[in-house]
Amino acid sequence: MSQTVPPKQEQEAQSFAETALRLGGKSEEEVRRMGAVDRADEQVETLFAAQYQTTSSPVHRAIWEGKVPLDLFQPPPPAASHPSDACMEKSLAVVRRRRDEGALLNQDKKLSVETLQELADAGYWGLLIETKYGGQGAPFARFAPFLTRMAALDSMTAAMASVHGCIGAVDPVRTFGNAEQKARLLPVLASGEKISAFALTEPGAGSDLTALRTTATLVGDHYEVTGEKLFITNAVPGRLIGLVVLLEGKPAVLIAELPPHENDEFQLVHYGLYALRQAYNHGLKFNKFRVPKENLLKPKTGDGLTIAYHGLNLGRLALCASAAASMRVFLANMLPWTAYRKTYGKPIQTRELVKRRIARLAALIAGADALVAWGSWLVDQGYRGELECIIAKIFGSEAQKEAAIELFMKTHGGRSFLHGHLFGDNVHEYLAPCIYEGEGEMLAMAFFKSLVKEHGKAYFEPIGKALQSHQIKTFSPANPIHAWKLRRELSSYAGWRMGQSFRRRDNGRVQGLDARLARHLAFAQEMCQKIPLELSSAMRTHQLKLADRQDRMIELSQRAQDAIVMLVTLFWAHGKKTAVAIAAADVLCQDLRRKLTGERPSDAYFKDANRLADLVIEGGFEGLAGVPEQEILMPYTS
Ligand SMILES: Cc1cc2nc3c(=O)[nH]c(=O)nc-3n(C[C@H](O)[C@H](O)[C@H](O)COP(=O)(O)OP(=O)(O)OC[C@H]3O[C@@H](n4cnc5c(N)ncnc54)[C@H](O)[C@@H]3O)c2cc1C
Repeated sequence: MSQTVPPKQEQEAQSFAETALRLGGKSEEEVRRMGAVDRADEQVETLFAAQYQTTSSPVHRAIWEGKVPLDLFQPPPPAASHPSDACMEKSLAVVRRRRDEGALLNQDKKLSVETLQELADAGYWGLLIETKYGGQGAPFARFAPFLTRMAALDSMTAAMASVHGCIGAVDPVRTFGNAEQKARLLPVLASGEKISAFALTEPGAGSDLTALRTTATLVGDHYEVTGEKLFITNAVPGRLIGLVVLLEGKPAVLIAELPPHENDEFQLVHYGLYALRQAYNHGLKFNKFRVPKENLLKPKTGDGLTIAYHGLNLGRLALCASAAASMRVFLANMLPWTAYRKTYGKPIQTRELVKRRIARLAALIAGADALVAWGSWLVDQGYRGELECIIAKIFGSEAQKEAAIELFMKTHGGRSFLHGHLFGDNVHEYLAPCIYEGEGEMLAMAFFKSLVKEHGKAYFEPIGKALQSHQIKTFSPANPIHAWKLRRELSSYAGWRMGQSFRRRDNGRVQGLDARLARHLAFAQEMCQKIPLELSSAMRTHQLKLADRQDRMIELSQRAQDAIVMLVTLFWAHGKKTAVAIAAADVLCQDLRRKLTGERPSDAYFKDANRLADLVIEGGFEGLAGVPEQEILMPYTS
C-alpha cells in the first residue's frame, strides 16, 4: 500500500499508536485520527506526577513487574466520619420523604424542580466541590459509596449527582479552571443554582471523538458556536454545560450557560429515550451561539479531549457504584419473592438453582463494591486511575446486565413482564450503562492499548522501525538475513523473554488471610505472571496487524481485567472480615477462575454457592436495609 511517510523529525514526535499504524500500512487519515486520541491520552498522563501515571498504577505494575504490589490492592478502612456526612444523610432523607409522598417527579415523570431545590438546600450538588467554594469537600472514596446508597433509593437522583459532579461542569472547572473561573463558577455549581451537564456526543461522533464537528470561532469578546450535540443528559434551558467544540481545529471545552428559552442561536432536539427516563435528555442545536471568551477552559497540557477523559474516569466509578445499588435492589426484591413463591409445594428459595442465582448476585455486588472502594481510594491518592476505572465500568455495567436478565428476570418468571414490575419497567435502565461513558468492548480495547503501550514502545516499536528502514515488508524469523539485520532489536526482546522464563516467583503473602482467599490470591498472582507472555505473544504473532485483531485484544484485555477483579475482591473481603463477604468473594473468585481456565464447575462449587445463599437469606448481606421492596404482583393463596 502506498503511503506518504512524514519527515524524520515528525516521525520522531509521533505517538506509539501513530508509529504502529503507519508501519502497519494504515491510511494517513486513520493514522492522524487514532494518533489524536493517543496523544490526548498521553497529555492526560502528563497531568499526573510520575508515581501516579498509568505505568505506576496498580494494574500496570501487577501485570508487568512480575510481583503484584499487594499494598496497592488494600485500601485502608474509611474514616469514621467526615464533615460531608451530614449533607449526605440530609440528601437521603429528602429523597426518602419525597418518594414516600409521591413527590419526587413532576408531571413529565422527571425529577421535579422542587426535588432538585430541596437537594440543593441540603448541599447535595456541592458534594465534590471544595468547602472554600461553598461545597462539602467530600473525598471521592466517601462520595462513591454514598452514591450506592442514594441509587438504591432512587437511581436517577444518584445519576444526576454523577453527571453534575463527575462528567458535567464540576470536574472540568475544578481540575482545569483558572482561579477566576473557579471563583465565579464553582459557587453556583455547589449551591445548585446551576446544575450541569456535559455535551460531547454528536450525531456523527460517539465512539469516534475525532469526528467532532461542532465549531467555536472567536468573535470579539465571545465565541460563536455552531453545530449539534446528541443524547445530552441534564441539558435543559438555563443549565450550565461543559461543551466540547473544535477551536482552531482542536477539541476544546467551553463552559456554556444555556439560555432560559430556545431562540435563533439555540434549540433543543426532542426524541423519546428509554433510558435515564427520569432526567431530561436532549439534542442541542447551536447556530452562532455566543459563549463569553473567559469561559474557555485551558488545560496546562492537552486539549478538550484531555478534559473529557479526566471526568469520564470519575463517571465510570460512579457508574459502578450505581450498578452495586441496582443489584442490591434486585437482591432485596428476590429474597421475599423467592420465599413467597412455592412450586411443587416448596418455596423456590429452597431450590439449588435459585440459591445459585442468589449467591451469584451477592458475589457480583461484592465485586462492584470492591472495585468502587479500591478505585475511589486510588483516585483520592492522586492516581490517574484510567485502567482501574475502566475495569470498574466494564464490571459494573456487565454485572448489572447479567443480574437483571439472568438472575432477576428469570427468578421472577412471567411477573417480570407485568406493568409495574421493576424489571419490565426499568429494563432499559439496566442495559444502558453498557453503552454510555464508553461502550464496554471499545473500552476493553482502550484498556488493552494502555496496558501494552510501554512494552510495545520498548520492544516492538524498534523492531517495526528497523523493518521499515531495511524495507522488510513481512518479517520471517527463519530468514537469516532478516534475523541478522534486526539482531540488536531482536536480542533486546529475547532478553526480556528469557527474563520472564527465569524470573524467580516472588509472590507476597498476607498474614491472616482466609484459606479460600489465600488460594485465590495465589492463582491471581500466577495469572498476573502469565499475562505478560500472553500479551507479548499476541503482539509478536500479529505484529503490525494487531490493531485489526480487535477480538484478540478484547479477549486478552478481559483476562487481565478478571485477574485484577479477583485481587481487588479478595482483599475487599479480607478487609470486611465477615463470613458473608468472604463467601461472596470466594464465589466470585471461583467464577472468574473458571472463566480464566475453562474448567467446569465442581460439586464443591455448587455447595459453596448454596452456603453463601443461606447466609444471604439469613439476613447477613450488607447494605440491604432500607432498600425499597415492591409488593408481590398477582398474589395468590396457596
Ligand atoms: C442514556 C444515555 C445517556 C447519554 N448521556 C450522554 C451525555 O450526557 N453526554 C454525552 O456527551 N453523551 C451522552 N451519551 C452518549 C454516549 O456516550 C454514546 O452513546 C456512546 O459514547 C457511544 O456512542 P454512539 O452511540 O455514537 O455509538 P457509535 O459510535 O455509533 O458506535 C456503535 C458501536 O459500534 C461499535 N464500534 C464503533 N467504532 C468501532 C471501531 N472503531 N471498532 C469496532 N467497533 C466499533 C461499538 O460496539 C460501538 O458501541 C448518552 C447515551 C445514552 C444512551
